[in-house]
Amino acid sequence: MKSVSAWGRLSHDLHEVQMLNDRTYVAPVLSEHQPGLAYGNGRSYGDVCLNPNGNLWHTIGLNKLINFDEASGRLTCEAGVLLRDIQRLFVPRGWMLPVTPGTQLITVGGAIANDVHGKNHHAVGSFGDHVLGISLARTSGEVLQLNWTSTPALLSATVGGMGLTGLIVTAELQLRSVSSPWLRTETLPYQGLSEFFELADASEDNWEHTVSWIDCLACKTARGIFMRANHMTAQEAAVMPSLKSTLTVHQQKIQRKPLCVPFVPPVSLVNGLTLKPFNMAYYQMQKMKRGFDVAHHEHFSCPLDNLQHWNRMYGPRGFYQYQSVVMRENGQTAVQAMLDAIAASGEGSFLAVLKTFGNRQPKGILSFPQPGVTLALDFPNRGERTLKLFEQLDVIVREAKGRLYTAKDARMPRDLFYAGYPRLPEFLQHRDAGISSAMSRRLMEF
Ligand SMILES: Cc1cc2nc3c(=O)[nH]c(=O)nc-3n(C[C@H](O)[C@H](O)[C@H](O)COP(=O)(O)OP(=O)(O)OC[C@H]3O[C@@H](n4cnc5c(N)ncnc54)[C@H](O)[C@@H]3O)c2cc1C
Repeated sequence: MKSVSAWGRLSHDLHEVQMLNDRTYVAPVLSEHQPGLAYGNGRSYGDVCLNPNGNLWHTIGLNKLINFDEASGRLTCEAGVLLRDIQRLFVPRGWMLPVTPGTQLITVGGAIANDVHGKNHHAVGSFGDHVLGISLARTSGEVLQLNWTSTPALLSATVGGMGLTGLIVTAELQLRSVSSPWLRTETLPYQGLSEFFELADASEDNWEHTVSWIDCLACKTARGIFMRANHMTAQEAAVMPSLKSTLTVHQQKIQRKPLCVPFVPPVSLVNGLTLKPFNMAYYQMQKMKRGFDVAHHEHFSCPLDNLQHWNRMYGPRGFYQYQSVVMRENGQTAVQAMLDAIAASGEGSFLAVLKTFGNRQPKGILSFPQPGVTLALDFPNRGERTLKLFEQLDVIVREAKGRLYTAKDARMPRDLFYAGYPRLPEFLQHRDAGISSAMSRRLMEF
């Protein structure tokens, strides 16, 4: 038995861990060690990747690339391959994953099972939109080949299905072509949510990546930093000699060993004393970056990957992330109400991210993205105080007909889950009876 935590470090429960290294043995392991759950790289924040006192099928050893078609950009790989490894191998060859979330240190299986989104949802959708097919091991011992033509129902249950329909053994992905790793970026400070929505609307057609950081502790008027970016072609980079030195510096940063938070401090370093000055300093620093610049795609998409184990900063009690999406029509009112509730509660968050999703329906039955606006906030775990605030935020999300993201959740009540995911009954038909997680027991029947 081994103690396993998710990224939020809210619990440290024992699990019977089966390391999967050979894809031909996955089905027998699942049949023999059930009920169980697939575990990728544990970058989900809450209990979606945990199965306390039960089996955990660890996929990180399923790390082989199987086939790549250089002409079409179709890649077949095992499900434990990290997104970072795909990007680092294929970007120099002119291909990249169309969707990367805020960390590249996740597995292909985890990306499919949570149907993760990036900063370009409005342009390309979520991860599942680029999955062509998968092989799925069930605890019955079968390995099924799924694609959108012959088995659309089980595939759409598995995309965003939180690992509850089977274990993804391999996946065929459609990569996109790129001619350089560089992005041309623009940074724009904003005051107030109206300005945020104006910027988001104005950027939708011409900017592939958009995201904003918002200072949820700033009184009365929300203030933030809006960032947008487009991929640069190799020609664009080549004809701009002034960029050469910038690009060299970025390249060196990528090759450097990332910094690390070496141990868990006895108390959270993110607290009432540090939050306000941090947010203020961050805002002022980013404000100075106003205007155009160039960034490596890894730095733009996954800035936190440069600080290993940053989750330890929250101390022994860990932290929650609260990520909601609400419809666009009532988005501004709902986001403002959430910011007001947070300010009134005295519970602060840094790294609050506000972003619009595009007007497109995801492929997964339980996928999180829906047209609207998503707000993601990290909170140190202060017990009852923090949970009381979440209850208030739940009311706002529910009234705004929104939903919470299961990849980040550790405590949402069942009624909010049912209200946010009305296609749940359809999903339940596809569950594998030999698979169960802490989250599925909390939110579903088993
Ligand atoms: C810093 C940071 C930033 C993030 N930013 C974003 C973001 O911008 N957008 C976003 O969408 N998410 C984001 N996330 C969340 C993260 O992308 C997801 O939680 C992702 O699913 C984690 O993948 P993993 O490989 O670590 O899987 P795990 O966390 O280990 O597992 C996640 C789920 O996938 C299932 N699973 C894993 N492997 C398989 C498999 N082979 N077959 C079937 N099921 C499987 C597990 O059972 C579990 O339900 C972020 C997380 C962090 C830590």
